[in-house]
Amino acid sequence: LRYCQQLQHNGQGATTPPLEASLMNGYDPELWRALQREEFELFYQPRIDLRRGSICGAEALIRWRHPERGLQQPSSFIPACEASGLIVPLGYWIIQEVGKTLPAMKEAGLDGRIGVNLSFRQFQDRYLAPTIERLMQEHLMDTRTLEFELTETALCSDEEHVRSTINQLSNQGVEFSLDDFGTGYSSFSLLQKLPITTLKIDKSFVDGIPGNQDDEEIVRAVINLAHNLNKQVIAEGVETRAQLEFLIRHDCDQVQGYFFSRPVPLDQFLNLLSTNRRQQAL
Ligand code: C2E
Ligand code: MG
Ligand code: MG
Ligand code: MG
Repeated sequence: LRYCQQLQHNGQGATTPPLEASLMNGYDPELWRALQREEFELFYQPRIDLRRGSICGAEALIRWRHPERGLQQPSSFIPACEASGLIVPLGYWIIQEVGKTLPAMKEAGLDGRIGVNLSFRQFQDRYLAPTIERLMQEHLMDTRTLEFELTETALCSDEEHVRSTINQLSNQGVEFSLDDFGTGYSSFSLLQKLPITTLKIDKSFVDGIPGNQDDEEIVRAVINLAHNLNKQVIAEGVETRAQLEFLIRHDCDQVQGYFFSRPVPLDQFLNLLSTNRRQQAL
């Protein structure tokens, strides 16, 4: 966790409490140890551009490779990380990890952005924007390769601070998408006020297409809403050909889901990128 220690020595980026104090601050000791021992791992789920028919980026999704219990899904540990605040240093580890692996992804042909989930809790760190900027500089990350996925809960606390953080990063070229769109309480005014470039239609609506009239209507409405506001739209959780055909017919821009690929470890994602590039060249 060199970057954590560096942050402490650097006054302007003093985002994390000293390591010892962190333990006392109520971080779950097992999860804190997991972070120190680098037991977390990022998987990548490709995003498919429906017009080009090719991979146009990916979402980074965290996993915990527990030494005894094996691979743990985020639902089993992210809530605890959010509750204790460990998501703040973990969130920086995630961005650093993406930064380290971006060169290999570009080498394999990545053409597009990597989506990183940002939890509402991470905005409670006053230094979120400057710390992200520092990590991007340290890892020579092109800001045009990052996209942060926000949920409506992160934005609901209509705080000036949340808005200025997003604006500051957006001015650097980082993009923002609205995750699980339609399941939260966001108002249309948020879409106007914030520099959101992409809406991600929640899987719960995609599950019902084609066939469920309400879900069909909602999916169509979100696609139209996005396009009328000059935004991109991604459908999440696409598992079947019938869903895909519905989305193509209604002009959805991108899809993500098991139909194309589950989230996979980095080496497999690099293979998918290389294969994708070969197919594009044909
Ligand atoms: P999310 O950001 O909405 O991520 C999409 C979830 O849907 C992922 O679950 C993904 O594996 C799953 N998914 C994608 N396509 C399909 C499909 O076709 N069928 C089904 N059944 N599922 C599909 P995962 O990886 O378990 O992540 C769950 C949630 O945990 C994420 O929802 C996100 O809110 C959170 N999360 C994951 N990684 C991170 C992270 O790095 N940081 C933060 N703060 N939260 C994360
Ligand atoms: Mg899962
Ligand atoms: Mg997401
Ligand atoms: Mg989602």
